[in-house]
Amino acid sequence: MAKKVTRIGVLTSGGDAPGMNAAIRAVVRTGIFHGMEVYGIMRGYQGMIEDDIMKMESRSVANIIQRGGTILKTARCKDFYEKAGRQKAYSNLKKRGINGLVVIGGDGSFRGAVKFGQEFDIACIGIAGTIDKDIYGSDFTIGFDTAVNTAIQAIDKIRDTMDAHDRIFIIEVMGRDAGYIALHSGIATGAENILIPERKTNIKDIIESLLEKERRKKLVNLIVVAEGDEFGGANEIQKILHENLPKAEIRVAILGHIQRGGSPTGLDRLIASRMGYHAVECLLEGRHNVFVGILNNKMHYIPLEKAVKNKGNIGGEWMKIVKILAS
Ligand code: ADP
Repeated sequence: MAKKVTRIGVLTSGGDAPGMNAAIRAVVRTGIFHGMEVYGIMRGYQGMIEDDIMKMESRSVANIIQRGGTILKTARCKDFYEKAGRQKAYSNLKKRGINGLVVIGGDGSFRGAVKFGQEFDIACIGIAGTIDKDIYGSDFTIGFDTAVNTAIQAIDKIRDTMDAHDRIFIIEVMGRDAGYIALHSGIATGAENILIPERKTNIKDIIESLLEKERRKKLVNLIVVAEGDEFGGANEIQKILHENLPKAEIRVAILGHIQRGGSPTGLDRLIASRMGYHAVECLLEGRHNVFVGILNNKMHYIPLEKAVKNKGNIGGEWMKIVKILAS
C-alpha cells in the first residue's frame, strides 16, 4: 500500500487551455476539504526545478473559475527531460513533504509525469488539459469545447463576408496532430470540406467540385483545415487551388492563438471541476500514475502510459456526414 498522501502539488504544463484555472481551483479546494496541504507550482516542471512553489489556500483560487489561461502559468521545460532536472524537482518537493502531484497538461506533460512517478516516491495524477483533445481514453479534455466555440464564432463571421462576395475561404484552425477542432467547428459551421491529419484528402475531388461550382457561377465554398493536415496548412492549400482555379478569389484566414484564450465554456468549467475533484480522490485512494478521463459521462482512471496521441481514429463516417450535409 502506498504511503498516505497528505501534501500535494499542482501544476499546469505544456500548452495552456481555457478551464485550467477551474481545475486548479477544484484540486486546491478538494485537497483542503480533505485536510491536505496544497502547493501551487509555478510554470510547470520549470518551477518545480527552480523551487518556485507556494502554499495555496482556499482564497488563493477565488474568482478564477471563469478565467482563461492559468494562474500558475505554464512552460515547456528542457531540464525535465534529464534525470538531473527531475532529481532537483524531486528534492524541492521532498523538503516540503509533498508526495502527491497533480499534473494538468497534455500528453507531453503526461510523459514527463510517467518518468517522474517511476523514478521517485511521488504519486502522480494527470488531468487532461489540452485544446486539441488528442489524449487517448477520454471523451473530453479541458479547453477543447471553448476552442471549438471560439473557432465557430470566428468562422460564422467569415462566412458572412464569404457569402456576400462569393469567395472560397480556407480557414485554418489549431491541431498539429489531431483534427478534432477542425472537424467539430467545420461541421458546426457547415463547411463544405474539412481537412485533418487523421485522414487522407482527395484534393482532386475538391478541385473538381470547385470547377463545377465555377461553371454554375456559384463559387462560394468554406474549407476548414487543421494546421497539421497533409498539405501543410491553409496557405499551401490556397496555392494548390489557385493553380487550378486561377480566376477564383481564394482567401485564407488563420485563426491562431485566439483559440487558446478566453473565458472557458460551461462544459469546460464543469469537466475541469469534476476532473480536479477526482484527481484528489485518486490520491486519497492510493492510486498513482493514472490520469482522470471521462468516458460515457463516467469518470475513468487510465494509466498515464496509455495517454499517447490519439491519432487516426476519426472514422470515415464523419467525412460522410460532412459531404452529405454540405451538398
Ligand atoms: P503538452 O503537455 O501540451 O503536450 P509538451 O509536449 O511541450 O506539452 O510537454 C510539456 C513538458 O513536459 C515539456 O516541456 C517537458 O518539460 C515535459 N516532458 C514532455 N515529454 C517528456 C519526456 N519524454 N520526459 C520528460 N519530460 C517530458
